[in-house]
Formats: sequence, C-alpha cells, structure tokens
Amino acid sequence: MTATKRKLAIVTGGGSGIGLAIAEKFVEQGIEVVIAGRNQERLDAAQQKLGALCHAIACDVTDLAAIPGFVQGVIDRYGPVDILVNNAGANMKKDFTEVTDEDFQQIILTNLTAVFAMSREVVKNMLQQQAGCIIHISSMAAQYGIPKVIAYSASKSAIDGMTRAMAVELSPKGIRVNAIAPGFIYSDMTAKALDSDPERKAKVFGRTPMGTMGQPADIGEAAWFLASDAAKFVTGVVLPVDGGNSIGF
Ligand code: NDP
Repeated sequence: MTATKRKLAIVTGGGSGIGLAIAEKFVEQGIEVVIAGRNQERLDAAQQKLGALCHAIACDVTDLAAIPGFVQGVIDRYGPVDILVNNAGANMKKDFTEVTDEDFQQIILTNLTAVFAMSREVVKNMLQQQAGCIIHISSMAAQYGIPKVIAYSASKSAIDGMTRAMAVELSPKGIRVNAIAPGFIYSDMTAKALDSDPERKAKVFGRTPMGTMGQPADIGEAAWFLASDAAKFVTGVVLPVDGGNSIGF
C-alpha cells in the first residue's frame, strides 16, 4: 500500500496579514505550505510560528524572470504543487492625476502580471497531475469605485476576468480556479491608515452591513473552503468575504 502524499500549497505574500492567515489555516488542515515574499525576516518569523509543515522561500513576484526557477525549486524540494494562492499584493493611494506611469505599471506588475506569470508556471506542473486548485485574492475594489486607488482597482478587476477565463480553459483539465474578494480586512495594508484615522474607521464600519471589519482568519476560512473537496464543484467564482459590503448599505 502506498501512502497518500501530503498536499502542497504555495501562498505568495504568506509572511503577513491575509496570506499568513491562509497559510495558518492550511497547515492546521495538514497541508504543507510554502510561503513566499520579499522580507526574509518576516517569512522566517511566520515559518517559526507555523512549524515544520511550513517552508519559507524568498521570492519577489515582480521579478518575472525568476518565477520559473522559484516554482521549479519548490517542486524539486517538496514535490508537485496542488494549491496556489496568489495573495501577494500592493496598493498605492494617490490622486488620479498624481499617479505616474511607473506607479501604475508597478501596481499592475505586482497585482496582475505576476499573478499571471506565477499561475502559468504552476499550471504547467498541475497539468501533468491533471489536478489543481488556484485561488486569486481579488478585492471588492474590483467591483466598486473607491477613490485614489486607480491602478489597484484596475488590477483587481482584471484578476476577476482572468479567474473566469482561466476557469473555463483549465477546469476541463482538472484545475479549478477561483478568487476571493475581501472587503475591509484588518491587516498591515489597512491597519496603519485606519488606526490613525478614527473618523475613516467609523465610516468603514458604517459602510459594512455587519458593522465591523473582517479579520485575516476570515479569508483563511474561505480559502480553505475553496481549496478543499467541499468545493470540488466550484470553479470560476469570485467569492465576496466582506461582511455584506458588496450588497449595499
Ligand atoms: P499585507 O500588506 O499584510 O500583505 C501583502 C503581502 O504581499 C506581504 O506579505 C508582502 O510580503 C507581499 N508582497 C507584496 N509585494 C510583493 C512582491 N513584489 N513579491 C512578493 N511578495 C510581495 O496586506 P494584506 O494581507 O491585506 O493583503 C493581501 C492581499 O489581500 C492583497 O492582494 C490585497 O490586495 C488583498 N486585499 C486586502 C484587503 C484588506 O482589507 N486588507 C481587502 C481586499 C483585498 P513582502 O513585503 O515580504 O514582500
């Protein structure tokens, strides 16, 4: 009798916030997880927290030329990839006319082009297994106008489109592709801005039917659902996890 291989996931941006919560949930469920990001110290701290099922590998997703080597390195060391969570993301708050071409390109590179490049390399491996699960972390900014985050909104809307296009092409080959659209989640990306601005914090809470912000663990739970067999007939969806933000207020 051969032992069943433990499932392996890559979580980009897994050293902090939402990515760390997703990695934590996966490890809790017995999944082996490779967390990737630029900040080695933060990755190492996350690895220490999550234990032996977690491996930390430095990777700047905007270095597109390095992505094939990163993915191959993961496969060589830990085996085929079953789950990819494209979570790494960047935002920039600026007035529309202040956004430079470089600003715009940088956000699109991190949030969209790198997601495509990482997915392509992992999908090559998943096609050999005729199985796999990809989860993109989108945002409610994909669907709803939020001022001063023009490139971010454009990148996340494109992620939703890419989710559906990937799903129709890859699902017949055994690879499910879904996205999660978080609402206001308490993480590094939001905490500093909100903690220093109680008025804005009250506005955010007021705009959310459930009257509060989400926690990274809420996204961890949703990612685990999408990655698990409970979602084996789910593909091509963008799942809002937003306390009701997307239904109005
Ligand atoms: P964080 O700032 O905590 O996390 C962002 C993560 O992305 C960090 O771990 C960072 O790691 C990683 N990252 C950024 N750039 C790169 C890069 N070039 N290469 C590799 N890793 C990178 O924020 P969140 O946890 O909130 O964000 C996670 C995702 O959730 C993002 O895609 C964001 O757009 C999305 N989201 C968040 C919402 C919220 O309210 N918080 C709402 C909607 C969506 P490092 O610095 O080490 O590279």
